[in-house]
Amino acid sequence: MPYYSEELIEEVRSRSDIVAVVGARVKLVRKGANYFGCCPFHNENTPSFSVSPSKQMYYCFGCGAGGNVLTFLMNYENIGFQEALSELAGRAGIALPEREMNEAERQEESLRKRMLAMNNEAARYFYHLLRSENGRAGQNYFQGRGLKPETMQRFGLGFAANYYDGLYRYLKKQGFSDTELKGSGLVRFSEAKGARDYFYNRVMFPIMDRSSRVIGFGGRIMGAGEPKYLNSPETMIFDKGRNLYGIHLAKNSRRPYFLLCEGYMDVIALHQAGFDCAVATLGTALTAGHAQYFRRLGRPVIICYDSDGAGIKAAMRAIPLLREVGINCRVLNMRPYKDPDEFIVHEGAEAFEKRIDEAINAFLFQSDVWKSEYRLEDPAERTAFDRKLAEELAGFSEPMERENYLTAVCSRHGIPAEHLKGLMNAVGNRRYQSPETAAPDLEEMAEASLSRAGKGQAGLLTAAQVLLCWAALSRAPAGRIRELLKEDDMPSDIYRRIYRQILEEKEEKGQVQPAALVSRYAEDEESSKLVAAVFSRTLREDMEKEEKSRILSENLQRLRKEALRNALKSGGDAARTAELVKEMARIGSLAIRESDI
Ligand SMILES: [Zn+2]
Repeated sequence: MPYYSEELIEEVRSRSDIVAVVGARVKLVRKGANYFGCCPFHNENTPSFSVSPSKQMYYCFGCGAGGNVLTFLMNYENIGFQEALSELAGRAGIALPEREMNEAERQEESLRKRMLAMNNEAARYFYHLLRSENGRAGQNYFQGRGLKPETMQRFGLGFAANYYDGLYRYLKKQGFSDTELKGSGLVRFSEAKGARDYFYNRVMFPIMDRSSRVIGFGGRIMGAGEPKYLNSPETMIFDKGRNLYGIHLAKNSRRPYFLLCEGYMDVIALHQAGFDCAVATLGTALTAGHAQYFRRLGRPVIICYDSDGAGIKAAMRAIPLLREVGINCRVLNMRPYKDPDEFIVHEGAEAFEKRIDEAINAFLFQSDVWKSEYRLEDPAERTAFDRKLAEELAGFSEPMERENYLTAVCSRHGIPAEHLKGLMNAVGNRRYQSPETAAPDLEEMAEASLSRAGKGQAGLLTAAQVLLCWAALSRAPAGRIRELLKEDDMPSDIYRRIYRQILEEKEEKGQVQPAALVSRYAEDEESSKLVAAVFSRTLREDMEKEEKSRILSENLQRLRKEALRNALKSGGDAARTAELVKEMARIGSLAIRESDI
């Protein structure tokens, strides 16, 4: 972040209206002084995501996501601080000065470029080898799998022959040094054997990022042998958890969804059959990072995993991750065939198209799988199955959604709706209100979280946030605030740091700009979220000052008591202990007066 001055960052931020920037991506509705919408960072149908035009901040009461216009763009578009800043500057017509990279960055940048160039050269090497006399085995393999030459070309398929250092020597000839090769994942170095190619005797699948740059490889062994598929290790340009095979083509597909498959050959076979929206993870299970990636791509996902036990298991793991980020997800039934390739060979593309139409909702798919795990003719197991469904249904926090799934699941498995509803409410009572009651009002939610101040650690943190918010927005001078609220009252380092920062801002500028404070923490998600949480704790305008003073004083007493208790627990000499005990006795008189608000 420090490449640009704080003033410049602040100018860009203050000239970018958060309502406009968020509103272009999330549907917002005005309610009182604020705007509300469904949170783009977690799955929900009733809005708990708020945007405050006066504070220029956003905050989600559901998942705690929050920050200013910069962090919103960073998190929503998954870009870095610099990129977010330059996008906003562009919108606002502010010219950012060319920034000088420091030495470490320059080196990293140039190494990154070399890595990309090296992977690109390696892809050329494999590509030409496949089409040479020595690539016969690879050609035979791909032809045997029914790939046309143009498909092989579109995916840049290649071959690594049975030489142990063919690629190494080729890359050396292209001018790459051993140091560069060491971090590339293409060559292994060992004392005993020297440099050896990472891939040999394999057909090669270059893996490309969204911009069609080669970032790594997958290789399938010729004949028997282990491992069957080998992938490049992670390098500075190859992050398996954040890339998808085939995405450089699928992102341009006109189909309004993605087909998510297990393997490279599935993707290629589907593309060849006209399903150019197929992608696969890179030899790993789907991760939360992939789910986020899909969310940003903004299209629903149809899972086309193998129909065997492993495929079903993988689908069962992927579904909750996709649901978590609000991706609409269905599951395609490939039976009686094992994978998309086999299906299309036997039934053709049209039949596959039909299976896409028939793909079932992911929750119904899950319910089928759970059902298969119980012997339903046994009454005890039948009950256990019903309970399982009730528990899973109770996990949907949206009443409407929960209701719809309940209806669908009941009709699918022939369960009386009233029965399952009863079970679900019993299970869900602890977690949620019954579906009949309306979603709580947002301002009330904020309000409730304030005065409730809860028990235990969570309540303590809320109390600290309430007081930080007061410290930042109060009209009282920094000196007076310092007198009332001690740094030691704060429950942890990060709270202490933010408190210090608030006082500094107040002293320097006379007042605290909530959104400006976030910029300082833009690259530290935990802190920027906390700052956003703090500023969601404002006491309502129309609340009596007397009431405000009471709430603030209570919270202050609560924090002080906990801090003193901790100090006592950590021991010390007799004099210190006596002092703490004395202070403890005075807690009741601690007060934030109406004039301090
Ligand atoms: Zn949220």
